[in-house]
Amino acid sequence: MSARADRVVRTEQQRCPRRDENPVNSAHFSHADWWERGRWASTQQEADAEVAEMIAESPNVSSVGNLTWGYGGEQPRTCSYCGGIHPDDAIALIKAGWSVDATDKGYKRYLEPPGYRAYAESFWKVRAGDMSEAHRPPRVESPTPPVKLYVQHFNAEQIAAFNVVLKERAS
Ligand SMILES: [Zn+2]
Repeated sequence: MSARADRVVRTEQQRCPRRDENPVNSAHFSHADWWERGRWASTQQEADAEVAEMIAESPNVSSVGNLTWGYGGEQPRTCSYCGGIHPDDAIALIKAGWSVDATDKGYKRYLEPPGYRAYAESFWKVRAGDMSEAHRPPRVESPTPPVKLYVQHFNAEQIAAFNVVLKERAS
């Protein structure tokens, strides 16, 4: 059993709406879809073990991104097929101060932990040679990576709730 499979808990069975976008991929992964909890490792050691496993299974893997959930609190449910967050959990995270970041795809957003955006901007400035901010390392609330959000998983009611929370926050 892999490190990830050991910690992931299935909550409810569902059918990922994104299967309809690519019937070939969908047929290839013909197993049932689930809302899962525990997508992220909870310690760096756990994350390192997972990376080592992924590289061993697929030597072409060169980058796997951040795997550690460092935010605290319970991890959100994510779709076993597309990795997108459960709509109700997305709304809860936004209420807890997470921000919503656009991507170049209309149906995709990233949810970022509080402090993440300021950290990323500062990081890239220093990286580009602008040392004006190097003396004050930004306070990072959490090393938790952006969480993917696919609007395909949202029904009309959940989209409405999502918009209400964002509007409340903006005012
Ligand atoms: Zn999905």
